[in-house]
This record gives sequence, C-alpha cells and structure tokens, in this order.
Amino acid sequence: MELRKDPITRSWVVVGHSGYAELPADPCPLCPGNEGDTRTILQLPAQGAWQVRVLPHFRPLYHIEGEPGRSAEGIYDRMSGVGAHEILVDTPNHGHWVADEPDEHVEVVLEAYARRIADLKGDPRFKYVAVFKNRGANSGEEWTHSHSQIAATTFVPRRVLYELRAARDWFHERDRCVFCDILRQEEKQKKRVVDSQGDYLAFCPYASRVPFETWIMPRRHAHLFEAPGAEDFHALGELLARVVRRLRSVAHGYHLVVHTAPNSLQTKGELSDYWKSIAEDYHWHIEILPVVPTGEKSYVIKEVYFNALLPEQAAELLRQVDPGR
Ligand SMILES: [Zn+2]
Ligand SMILES: [Zn+2]
Ligand SMILES: [Zn+2]
Repeated sequence: MELRKDPITRSWVVVGHSGYAELPADPCPLCPGNEGDTRTILQLPAQGAWQVRVLPHFRPLYHIEGEPGRSAEGIYDRMSGVGAHEILVDTPNHGHWVADEPDEHVEVVLEAYARRIADLKGDPRFKYVAVFKNRGANSGEEWTHSHSQIAATTFVPRRVLYELRAARDWFHERDRCVFCDILRQEEKQKKRVVDSQGDYLAFCPYASRVPFETWIMPRRHAHLFEAPGAEDFHALGELLARVVRRLRSVAHGYHLVVHTAPNSLQTKGELSDYWKSIAEDYHWHIEILPVVPTGEKSYVIKEVYFNALLPEQAAELLRQVDPGR
C-alpha cells in the first residue's frame, strides 16, 4: 500500500489497499459491551458509560508508524501510507441517528471531533485531519451503527486543496474571505437559507452538486473548527441536528464532512504559499450531501480515493486479455 500523486490534479490516491471487504460486523463491534480488546483513543464522558468513543479503524487506510518518506519515481511522486485512521462511534444506541439524540449529545460529538483534530495536528507529520461521516442506505456506511471517521494524512485532500487555492486567490484579488462574502450575500438574499441558530447559518450552496446539498458556516470568520473555546458547539449541534432531521424527509442518508484549515505545524513545502494569509482567507464549514432516492446520482465523500489494484497489475491483466473483435 502506498500513496501516489496525480501530477496533473496534484491529488493523492491510496493504491494497493484491500478495501473494506472483511470488516467485522456481527455482533456489532461498535456497540457498548463489544469493545473487546480494541484500544480506546478517546471516550466522552471520560468516566463511566461512554456517549462517544474513538477507536482505531479495523482496516486502516493509513498506518501510524513511520515517516512519509516521499520519493520520486521518474517524474512521479509517492509516499508510504503513513497517517491515522480512526472510527468515532457517535452514539451508544445501535439503531439511532445522532440527530435523534438530545441536543447536548450532538454537542459532545462535535467536541470529540474538535479534540481529535487538535490532538492529531500535534503530530508534525500530518498535513491534514479529515472528519467525515456516511449515514443511511446507499451512503457507503461501513456499519449501520452510527459512526464518523477521522483520517490524519500526510497530504491535503483534493477538495480542500481546491478550496485553499480558490480562497487564497479571492483574498489576494479582493482582500476579503470568499466564504464571508458568500455568507453575507446568502443572508441578504435569503433565497437559499435553510435555517440558522446563534452564530451559524445553514444554506444550500449556489452551485449545489446534489439536490438538497447543505452547508453550515459560522457567521464570524474563523479558519479553525477545532480552536479551543472559539466555537459554540451547543448552537452548532442544535442547528446540525435540525438540518439532518429536515434532510431525512427527502433523502435516504447523507455524507457529512468538516472542512477546516490544514496543520499549522506544516508551513513548508506545498503549503508554504497558503500560510501567509490562511487565517484570513480560509473559513471552516460543514458540507452535507444527502443521498437522494433513486434516479439521482449520489456523490460519495471519500475525501481520498483508494484503489485496491496497482496500475502496473491492471495493465498486465489488460494486456493478457484477448481484445478480439
Ligand atoms: Zn451497534
Ligand atoms: Zn470568512
Ligand atoms: Zn468545503
């Protein structure tokens, strides 16, 4: 397993990963009482029965040991699959959606997201920490027990990299944050606003990729979701839960992803251009892409692409096939 960079889009792909074919499923490994000998990375509350629990992924895309060891192969770049891949069990109740739990519970889930991001960013090898969640039928969820995933990587995922580039360019041209500009216009026009709570606004983005795509953004400019004490997770939790409950009436499930700034310990190399203005030009947000009923194409959030078959093996197999006529 290794990471390879597409020289044109500059995005990294995990190749040679075996996928999630043999994940433990029965009995549910995420239920309380079935923890077995899995390591608890974080549990909230810290004492007593857990409401949120973080454990290492059973089939991690990345491994925590070693150095990224970036090397060249001719014109190409590759790295070893160093990183962290964790499961965040966001409720102890097997059949529940997080949005059905009390508002205080959703706040605890957001708090756990923030703590894991901050903790993993303490490791200077990691450039980015992704938090994402697939929930419901056809969402690509790995277990039906509600959970999120945390992935710390030695590269910035493609979608975030696009956002960083665009936000920096906008800022350089106009001296303003593009996300703040979007918020101001959406709040003024109100055409695409879904809901709001405290300092947070939920709206359908102008160029939505799927029906009912919804973003949640803080009204006050902030580039870090995980900045301690900076965010009011109570209000955010209330809004997020209401948005998910609304989406559930039109969708089978959803993909959720938290977009925050990369690791500030990583100021060299690829990211050096971004850091000069990142605190002013990037603005954290949550993107929710519903899985809509059949007939509509679903957009699966992987944040990173993985491919079990090495292209060298793929080419060999294809050469052996008789092309016929
Ligand atoms: Zn379960
Ligand atoms: Zn902003
Ligand atoms: Zn985003």
